Amino acid sequence: MASILGLIALSIIQGYLINNTYKLKKDVFLEDTKRSIFRFDNDLPVVDSIYDKIGEHLLSKIFEYKTQQIDKSELLNDIMSVTDSVNQLFINEYQKEFKKRGVTYDIKYQKRLKSLILLDSIKNDTLYFKNKTSNTQFLLGESFEPNKEYGVNNSQTETDFSRSYLDNGISKTIDFNIRLTTQDYLDINDWTRLVLRQMSGILALSILIFAVVLGLLYYAIKSLITQKKIADIKTDFVNNITHELKTPLATLTLATKMLNKDEVKQHPEIVNNTINTIERQNQRLQKLIDQVLNNSLGYNEIKLNKELIIVENYINTVLDDFKLSLKNKEVTINREFSITKKAITVDKFFMTTALLNILENAVKYSEDDLVINCKIESEKKLLISIEDNGIGISEKYQKQIFDKFFRVGNKEIHNVKGLGLGLYYTNQIIKAHNGTITLNSKEGQGTTFIITIPFN
Ligand code: ADP
Repeated sequence: MASILGLIALSIIQGYLINNTYKLKKDVFLEDTKRSIFRFDNDLPVVDSIYDKIGEHLLSKIFEYKTQQIDKSELLNDIMSVTDSVNQLFINEYQKEFKKRGVTYDIKYQKRLKSLILLDSIKNDTLYFKNKTSNTQFLLGESFEPNKEYGVNNSQTETDFSRSYLDNGISKTIDFNIRLTTQDYLDINDWTRLVLRQMSGILALSILIFAVVLGLLYYAIKSLITQKKIADIKTDFVNNITHELKTPLATLTLATKMLNKDEVKQHPEIVNNTINTIERQNQRLQKLIDQVLNNSLGYNEIKLNKELIIVENYINTVLDDFKLSLKNKEVTINREFSITKKAITVDKFFMTTALLNILENAVKYSEDDLVINCKIESEKKLLISIEDNGIGISEKYQKQIFDKFFRVGNKEIHNVKGLGLGLYYTNQIIKAHNGTITLNSKEGQGTTFIITIPFN
């Protein structure tokens, strides 16, 4: 949990840093662009002549305005029509100059009127003034969306104007000062992508670091889960083995107590019986210890002592012995052998242990009327299948069934003793013979184990 929070915090910090870097890079980029094109219009003769033309026109129009021949809006419209007529030339000149200055990206440029004020000795006359609500008056350059723009240079020019003229035969003089301010705007198409491209190294590095941290976290969580699983398995195993040891030990304690009693000593039959019980319990304990010691061997630790056997005879003997060992339970065993007298080399001792584990499980995990079907077939390999009509194994446990110490944890098998080693060991034995073991099972209907072993 803490590590996940740590990861989230790390992502936020990284996101914040990347965002900051982005902003910085963007500012640097825009500053660079601004510097590279700073006031270059003064160096361009064509642009200069355009300014002169507009300036001359402006002066003559202002004169007309001052002598009440036109009004303010006519004046502004007139200026616009002049700028319109020279605009294309202006744009071409600018684009040419951008290229010359090594600006490789798509850039648009615009000059707007901020204010136009006439000052004379009496009063100021504001012909145009950009405030927050009014739209800026477009003068020259390319058009672009206002929200993409980036304002750069401001410039202000002041010109004194003085002219004499005749008004109804009377000579008059107009004297004023024109104050004109303009602002330049830029629109760099795709500048987000350009800035991001500049940041690609940092981005790649941070993605890499993030992936490494994520990988480490995944690994840590995965090993934590595995550790927990192993701890659970160990606890289960200790509980199971304690449970298994309790019964024979209790019987042994009881039996030794009995043998110590004088009245029992008088009766040789009871003594013999008790000794038999002690022997049986002793064997049971021995078997349990063997199970823990041997049954946890891995397949490459199993030393096989192979001998040639006739499959049919061998399986018959195993099944017969198994049937004899079942004292209390009534079990029907059907045999379906589709091969005769076929020989194979196996380690008889280990193979018998493997088959008995499966057969004993069929008894352990079934209710009454147990039917076991044992089939032997031979394709390219020897195929032995052992089917029971027991409680079956739910699909979700089938993958783990051959794992060391694994036991299905449902209530029905709670009373069945076991350490979860039998099928693990069986699988190891079959693997040691270069064979395979798989199962088909449906909960409540039964289980079939299928063993294949190559003939050589
Ligand atoms: P155990 O000592 O518990 O029998 P095994 O390794 O032999 O250990 O079996 C593992 C688990 O597989 C058992 O605990 C049981 O839940 C399940 N199992 C094995 N064989 C069968 C079967 N024939 N039918 C139903 N469940 C079985």
